[in-house]
Amino acid sequence: MKQWIDRLRWERTLRPEEFRQLLTECDAELLRYINKQAQEVSLLHFGNKIYIRGLIEISNCCRNNCYYCGIRKGNPNIERYRLTQESILDCCKQGYESGFRTFVLQGGEDPVLTDDKIERIVTNIRQEYPDCAITLSLGEKSRNTYERFFKAGANRYLLRHETYNEAHYQQLHPAEMSGKRRLQCLQDLKDIGYQTGTGIMVGSPGQTVEDIIEDILFIERLRPEMIGIGPFLPHHDTPFAQCPSGTVAQTVLLLSIFRLMHPSALIPATTALATLASDGRERGILAGANVVMPNLSPREERKKYELYNDKASLGAESAEGLIALQKQLNAIGYEISTERGDFIQYTTDY
Ligand code: SAM
Repeated sequence: MKQWIDRLRWERTLRPEEFRQLLTECDAELLRYINKQAQEVSLLHFGNKIYIRGLIEISNCCRNNCYYCGIRKGNPNIERYRLTQESILDCCKQGYESGFRTFVLQGGEDPVLTDDKIERIVTNIRQEYPDCAITLSLGEKSRNTYERFFKAGANRYLLRHETYNEAHYQQLHPAEMSGKRRLQCLQDLKDIGYQTGTGIMVGSPGQTVEDIIEDILFIERLRPEMIGIGPFLPHHDTPFAQCPSGTVAQTVLLLSIFRLMHPSALIPATTALATLASDGRERGILAGANVVMPNLSPREERKKYELYNDKASLGAESAEGLIALQKQLNAIGYEISTERGDFIQYTTDY
């Protein structure tokens, strides 16, 4: 299968049955090989620099009831919070002083955070920090709303499609949610001009190899600028509390497949991967990831944004832990980049 991995690197795709075999029969030696190839591609494009994004979790209130998510509407056991505009701007200030040049505003689909409010927040951040990128990750909105946020100064949007297969989508979400609507949102975001991110949870309940192949082929067609791949991790207060986590091996295999298929994409080593394994962040980077997203949220709220059990938000996962992060990265030959780190299409053949 090594030849397939070489071909994936040069031709940036494989046939579905080749993906199937790679996903089901990848042993430790082959995993090391594909991780190495993907790391090489990442080093060729980005050097040994890792972009940092300051993650601000603006609200854990959500109108949706996704079966996997700890902040789902139907979880009565979490203390809900919503940051004020002042608090969000304060997070940006602290982040800016620490060297962050991208702020990611993420949250549940909170009806109290109206379009007007978000637009105002984006406008104010844009005014205050003209040299920074603003990334939003606030779920599904109308095209008109996405346009308003874009005009107010947002540059990027993260919206994982979670799974391309509609039947699998329905296993993960209640009937009122629709995979098609989510895909339409992604198309709208791309059309408007956002640097758009999508992705999946690896090992989500009911996920089959066929589903993953559909995800790979969908992402190949969409050509997103950012690709978020992290393991599914159970949360104790959700219908999936007893479901097993995704694995590190499958996650880093997929990270490498996506890096080889999308050499220019911005791909984070996710917090979920760092939560699953103590060396998860490093394994992600050594498999081709080039972004990390330390937590900039106020410390007293962080524990309340619990998407899954034991979500990491301290140490190297936190903005105040940048020195620890720098050390961890140095130990594997990498450095933090404080550049904005926009998407640039890589044109050189190699
Ligand atoms: N509401 C926005 C949305 O739907 O895109 C943003 C917030 S949502 C909590 C962000 C991401 O968290 C989701 O796209 C999902 O992939 C991830 N997530 C939620 N629950 C998770 C879990 N149990 N394990 C791993 N990732 C999870």
